Amino acid sequence: MAVPSADKVQEIREVTRIERIGAHSHIRGLGLDDALEARNVSQGMVGQMDARRAAGVILEMIKDGKIAGRALLIAGHPGTGKTAIAMGMAQALGSDTPFTSIAGSEIFSLEMGKTEALTQAFRKSIGVRIKEETEIIEGEVVEIQIDRPATGTGAKVGKLTLKTTEMETIYDLGQKMIESLTKEKVQAGDIITIDKATGKITKLGRSFTRARDYDAMGAQTKFVQCPEGELQKRKEVVHTVTLHEIDVINSRTQGFLALFSGDTGEIKSEVREQINGKVAEWREEGKAEIVPGVLFIDEVHMLDIESFSFLNRALESDMAPILIMATNRGITRIRGTNYQSPHGIPIDLLDRLLIISTTPYEEKEIRQILKIRCEEEDVEMSDDAMTVLTRIGMETSLRYAIQLITTANLVARKRKATEVDVDDIKRVYSLFLDESRSTQFLKEYQQEFMF
Ligand code: ATP
Repeated sequence: MAVPSADKVQEIREVTRIERIGAHSHIRGLGLDDALEARNVSQGMVGQMDARRAAGVILEMIKDGKIAGRALLIAGHPGTGKTAIAMGMAQALGSDTPFTSIAGSEIFSLEMGKTEALTQAFRKSIGVRIKEETEIIEGEVVEIQIDRPATGTGAKVGKLTLKTTEMETIYDLGQKMIESLTKEKVQAGDIITIDKATGKITKLGRSFTRARDYDAMGAQTKFVQCPEGELQKRKEVVHTVTLHEIDVINSRTQGFLALFSGDTGEIKSEVREQINGKVAEWREEGKAEIVPGVLFIDEVHMLDIESFSFLNRALESDMAPILIMATNRGITRIRGTNYQSPHGIPIDLLDRLLIISTTPYEEKEIRQILKIRCEEEDVEMSDDAMTVLTRIGMETSLRYAIQLITTANLVARKRKATEVDVDDIKRVYSLFLDESRSTQFLKEYQQEFMF
């Protein structure tokens, strides 16, 4: 069975990341300190302290692997940072943990059924960390770890980074090194140089700073400390792919290129069963481990009753990711039924959720967020303009105010100014309607629109 190579997967992820530079690109994490307390302004995050703290606790559980199959709901008014918090969690998890983000309405597509769309989203959020032992390729930069004290000398050594040119295998080099180390009594902290042909080691001194200097000189050896271990004969490569990536590449009708286009169509259940079986085998053999990632479903109230029961069932699988949902609805109808329920989510699913709520912002928080967005978009804004924009943010919506930054900057640039001023804000405020003015406009001119 084929597994996508780490390089190719990386390439694809780079492509998808480009789309992310947008509304939440200023968010770099949850902005918590070591005790998981939220710093008022940190990592692009402002205020919303309780929700961020709660998200931090969940994050710890995710990192400890204690929360697979659980679900979290972030509920709150529009524009109160629900998506921002989910993005902050994704950033804090790092690139090795899969994070998939979809909007509830996305699953209603013509190309595939709802449950297929949800299954794909689930499997995109489950990582498989695969360990592979590879032969060392000539010329490749490798790291050797020799931590076991070389017999009889008490010499403790660490990690060595060098190129494999002129070497047959890393194992041979290791052998030669051990011989040489024994003679030279090399210890942790020593800076050494190694003759690539013979493996002979010459001591240069004992300072890490000097090791760095030595590196800067273009030498290819670096000596660092590392924990007790054994001489590694081969390089062990670990990379994480998602179950979905394995599905696609093994699905004969799709092929690897489908990963680029995202146009994978439906994947047969036999393919998935076969892959589940194989992954279970790898896990037993210690070749792979499961990394439960995060599936974020925004506007979750857009899902219907069938999708909710799918989620309920899917969460019970031992390979389930952590599900984070967000909604800005209160009590509303569950799609596909005539029943009302909190957030439009069926009670049995609600019952298994941890719920975090976000609260509306105060003026100074709105101002702070707008300032951060200006920095993110490289926009200079006068204090007065910022005051007017903050007022707009309070009276319309934060998202609308954020959108005015780019447009006001364009207007300012047109008049060859380097700083956005009050007039630029006024201009774009009159050019682009916010939601309530747009509704008002529709009401006034109802007759003139076609129905
Ligand atoms: P909706 O219910 O309409 O989907 P939401 O609660 O998901 O809204 P976001 O999309 O997260 O709101 O917020 C709107 C904009 O404000 C985004 O650009 C977001 O990054 C930014 N934002 C919101 N809250 C914060 C915050 N606490 N710190 C920094 N930026 C924030």
